[in-house]
Amino acid sequence: MLEDLQLERDLTVAVERGEIVVYFQPQVDLASERVVAMEALARWKHPQRGIVGPDAFIPIAERNGVIHTLGEAVLQTACRYASSVASKFWPVEVAVNASADQLTTPWFFDRIHAHLAHCELEARYLTIEVTESQAIGNPEIARQLGVLREEGFGISIDDVWPESVSTDRVLALPATELKVDRSVLYRDDDDEGLRSLVALGRERGLRVVAEGVETRGQLARVKAAGCDRAQGYLFGRPGPSDDMDDLLASTGD
Ligand code: C2E
Ligand code: MG
Ligand code: MG
Repeated sequence: MLEDLQLERDLTVAVERGEIVVYFQPQVDLASERVVAMEALARWKHPQRGIVGPDAFIPIAERNGVIHTLGEAVLQTACRYASSVASKFWPVEVAVNASADQLTTPWFFDRIHAHLAHCELEARYLTIEVTESQAIGNPEIARQLGVLREEGFGISIDDVWPESVSTDRVLALPATELKVDRSVLYRDDDDEGLRSLVALGRERGLRVVAEGVETRGQLARVKAAGCDRAQGYLFGRPGPSDDMDDLLASTGD
């Protein structure tokens, strides 16, 4: 508890001090096995604690409002990186996680447009990821996502659970992509749920991405289930942009 309070205090200055850094994790197209996207994942380079993962500070940032400046810093870095990759390798999409509070702030949309224009990126190269739990039941978020989708941005519903009771409501959201929760791959039973989610996604023209692919066996399963893309340690752990450059350089033609 005391530790949390200290972390909260530190976080308010961390963004200004440039301690929030962005790692990227590759996403692979399963048909071509080529890297087609990178997810931006926030890390905190804490002066005393070292690298702190987002699960320890995103909830604090959401509570105290720092998520707005933090989220914008991530967005800016991600747009810059997409632009740099396109000039050095081939164009890849970048996916940025957004919290519900950001999506319901009109200012966030202005910032998206500003960063995109500054980096001379087309909207289709930026995907906004929002978790199933945050997107469902919030009509304002659904409306805002609809506007972004109309403008050509990718909209991904993150951490979708195949047997979720709210699958119908997820599928009704104005998305372009479903990202299946990685826990699906960590159980031994058959992939019926995953296959039916893929089929429902297909019907609605949604891309289905499997998260958390760590082994060749899991890769075979997500391919067999008909997923379009995969992300996970098998293809690369989240890392600094230099690591991603090395990866792209080594997988290029
Ligand atoms: P997420 O968006 O679902 O991101 C995927 C998480 O799965 C990442 O955890 C990633 O490191 C982890 N992961 C990827 N491949 C594998 C794998 O093969 N095996 C396993 N076990 N894990 C894998 P991470 O980086 O700790 O991020 C946790 C969550 O924090 C993210 O989940 C996202 O919801 C949130 N987050 C991260 N960055 C941001 C941000 O800039 N803004 C907001 N609002 N949330 C963020
Ligand atoms: Mg995500
Ligand atoms: Mg996820």
